[in-house]
Amino acid sequence: TIEFVRATQLQGDEEPSAPPTPTPAQQKESIQAVRRSLPVFPFREELLAAIANHQVLIIEGETGSGKTTQIPQYLFEEGYTKKGMKIACTQPRRVAAMSVAARVAREMGVKLGNEVGYSIRFEDCTSERTVLRYMTDGMLLREFLSEPDLASYSVVMVDEAHERSLHTDILFGLIKDVARFRPELKVLVASATLDTARFSTFFDDAPVFRIPGRRFPVDIFYTKAPEADYLEACVVSVLQIHVTQPPGDILVFLTGQEEIEAACEMLQDRCRRLGSKIRELLVLPIYANLPSDMQARIFQPTPPGARKVVVATNIAETSLTIEGIIYVLDPGFCKQKSYNPRTGMESLTVTPCSKASANQRAGRAGRVAAGKCFRLYTAWAYQHELEETTVPEIQRTSLGNVVLLLKSLGIHDLMHFDFLDPPPYETLLLALEQLYALGALNHLGELTTSGRKMAELPVDPMLSKMILASEKYSCSEEILTVAAMLSVNNSIFYRPKDKVVHADNARVNFFLPGGDHLVLLNVYTQWAESGYSSQWCYENFVQFRSMRRARDVREQLEGLLERVEVGLSSCQGDYIRVRKAITAGYFYHTARLTRSGYRTVKQQQTVFIHPNSSLFEEQPRWLLYHELVLTTKEFMRQVLEIESSWLLEVAPHYYKAKELEDPHAKKMPKKIGKTREELG
Ligand code: ADP
Ligand code: MG
Repeated sequence: TIEFVRATQLQGDEEPSAPPTPTPAQQKESIQAVRRSLPVFPFREELLAAIANHQVLIIEGETGSGKTTQIPQYLFEEGYTKKGMKIACTQPRRVAAMSVAARVAREMGVKLGNEVGYSIRFEDCTSERTVLRYMTDGMLLREFLSEPDLASYSVVMVDEAHERSLHTDILFGLIKDVARFRPELKVLVASATLDTARFSTFFDDAPVFRIPGRRFPVDIFYTKAPEADYLEACVVSVLQIHVTQPPGDILVFLTGQEEIEAACEMLQDRCRRLGSKIRELLVLPIYANLPSDMQARIFQPTPPGARKVVVATNIAETSLTIEGIIYVLDPGFCKQKSYNPRTGMESLTVTPCSKASANQRAGRAGRVAAGKCFRLYTAWAYQHELEETTVPEIQRTSLGNVVLLLKSLGIHDLMHFDFLDPPPYETLLLALEQLYALGALNHLGELTTSGRKMAELPVDPMLSKMILASEKYSCSEEILTVAAMLSVNNSIFYRPKDKVVHADNARVNFFLPGGDHLVLLNVYTQWAESGYSSQWCYENFVQFRSMRRARDVREQLEGLLERVEVGLSSCQGDYIRVRKAITAGYFYHTARLTRSGYRTVKQQQTVFIHPNSSLFEEQPRWLLYHELVLTTKEFMRQVLEIESSWLLEVAPHYYKAKELEDPHAKKMPKKIGKTREELG
């Protein structure tokens, strides 16, 4: 067992004795009654009046008060979509956009994709009729490319503004500008109760509309001592809550898909072993790549007598509200991007969350009754180790993508762009340098023809460059597949705990000389030859869902080829051409084997091949990587063997022959680094 001590209380606005968890009968109440019961409802008229009277309105309200699902509907009912005008509501997260759109479609009694739809990268569930568009902030950003004044929109609601995602931050600057010359455009900035004054100031002192909160007090508990293995501690604590605490569902915050799946498996495993000794515990995951039917399950009411535990990423912090949560379990971590503008290295790391985040999480326990939040860290750690707030994404990510987009929109002077918080100067500079090296910008910083094409593709500049380069190397068929497989990101292979050996063998069977990109290509090609069969996936320990998604992505990218003037062609088995095309996009991400292991070519950073890579044992002298992941070390994930001469061929302006020489070539030890076993 894990010992918790009660320390503080998150103040509520309601008396602790107020209504208990709604019964299933109440939950079944008509959807309209539920709508009327939301905190925003009593303010409907006042809110609409404020919107009518002000061009820009900041809306602040506790999570779950109805901002996202209700306000766009009010606007619809009020006639803001007359004459075919549209309402956009942006979300930083794909899952939120999908889930919320589905909910709103149900509330309005329409089919998803008709009047209400969503649009996320590589997935468009809208039609001509769609007037309420939930979309990721990145998608609205791309709308500026085809419609710089957003002329078909009557209202833009930038939701979850407090998240301060990169794309939301950029939207602020662009929308503020559009609003100036489109006085009839309504701009709403919706945020949880955090920092709304900043938004108001940014939008020339726009008024803030507060939806009064409605939250019960939440008791906060901390562990007595730090927990070494938080995943294990999580599982133990959930069971502990389940056995000792009165009814009410549990929400657990973990950092990502792998961790969530592991935790769910462990929980189910232990419940099975405990059998009828405990009441039923429904274990439900929620993360970005979860298929939508599985997503919907977290919202279904818990059957009487049972308890539900939802194991979620940050998505459940403010973007989604699940009814009936009384207990929150918070290990205090989240996955965060960080960027080092000095080295140009971006990595995804599990880091302690901020105090603001921890308090949002705790708040999720007090929506329907007084709740409890168990923090898997000490009160001391909360006080001394957590930052106050999360640093906005714009300050800890690479900006290549955004800079390319802004350049395409004709915004040249990026140093003076209207940022809510400016990115570090070095990051901007490096983005410009990289885009120049990729040939997207000329030496004056102006967009080139190639840059314009790169911006057309909804992927990162390096990936776009790789796709464009496939024209030169006549291998666009293969490159499209590689691009699509890279986009579904590390969820291709399935590795169930009880069949680890079989799964690993199956994976090794796909290995091809050259590296991981070719392995991905091989998996896809064989799957396509099987007739895109799910049985084939099952037999080969490949995730069918990921493959289906890769196929969708591939189709969409293929549809864009014509616009960027790349013809369809195949390398006919000449994989050198594929590898060169990949190198043309990723020459920035290269490493060479030195006597002390791998070093990145330009920055001389120490990096390691990920143990899952097909090249882990081969240790080629020169390689490129798709991404770096920092766990115990800087691991390169998706690695491809290259020849140094290719770097001169694809990026002569970036590499000099001299730096690609290898003085130690002959003395190189055969094998450097640890074996798979030693790494565990
Ligand atoms: P906010 O944006 O202010 O956080 P929302 O509009 O997202 O609030 O949520 C309002 C209410 O709608 C919540 O109480 C939530 O329970 C309910 N809700 C949202 N999505 C769903 C869904 N998919 N299924 C059932 N209820 C939902
Ligand atoms: Mg919301």
